[in-house]
Amino acid sequence: MTGPILTVEDLRVRYGRVEAVRGVSFDAAAGELVTLVGANGAGKSSIINAVSGLVRPRGGRILFEGRDITRTPAHRLVRSGLVQVPEGRQILATLTVEENLRLGAPRRAGIGEVYGRFPVLAERRRSPAGTLSGGEQQMLAIGRALVARPRLILLDEPSMGLAPRIVDEVFGVIGEIRSSGTTVVLVEQNARRALRAADHGYILASGEIVHSGPAAELLGDDRVVQAYLGVE
Ligand code: ATP
Repeated sequence: MTGPILTVEDLRVRYGRVEAVRGVSFDAAAGELVTLVGANGAGKSSIINAVSGLVRPRGGRILFEGRDITRTPAHRLVRSGLVQVPEGRQILATLTVEENLRLGAPRRAGIGEVYGRFPVLAERRRSPAGTLSGGEQQMLAIGRALVARPRLILLDEPSMGLAPRIVDEVFGVIGEIRSSGTTVVLVEQNARRALRAADHGYILASGEIVHSGPAAELLGDDRVVQAYLGVE
């Protein structure tokens, strides 16, 4: 395939009177890790929820592998290779690890691969998911998305609420997913960390993209660092 795997054009999302996303455009090339960063309330979740079919856009167009998916519901997108890992993980605490993984793959196709990638999930396969640590629960949420063998994975704040060492592990896993050829769109408040992992970055403020470019350039841009990344 030529051209981007994901194209978002002039996306608009509203909740009643709140204009959460005001004409956002970005794209992701196949195999790239793209990040959308910005403060709390900037519109990051609204954008990826619109891409994954969980929120209906008020305007704009979303193309996945060249096909218009602007109004395609989430469950159909999962089958066509686009999967989201939601904010807050949303694993089912009383079900076992394996039962949670099965929810991501009706035909159980990729569960063995996920156990290969996350040995801790294989060890805990019969434990209720609610007994896992926060980091393990994030691995489970990512694993559940991977069992569907997506070509595009959307991650909403995967580092939220995790200890620094565990954040390193989660970013390690995200890097491996990208290295295996899966395109990643990562939404993060942890802007510096996300930009270090990314190929391209988009910085959002009040529902608009205010800076964009190769992630390394954004990290080296004083205006960006002062306004959005803060001191380390
Ligand atoms: P966060 O890191 O808090 O998730 P975000 O950058 O992902 O922030 P969004 O969650 O997309 O931002 O929110 C953008 C704006 O839309 C905010 O002003 C938020 O209060 C508002 N908003 C989000 N969801 C809803 C909703 N369901 N109803 C009303 N307003 C909403």
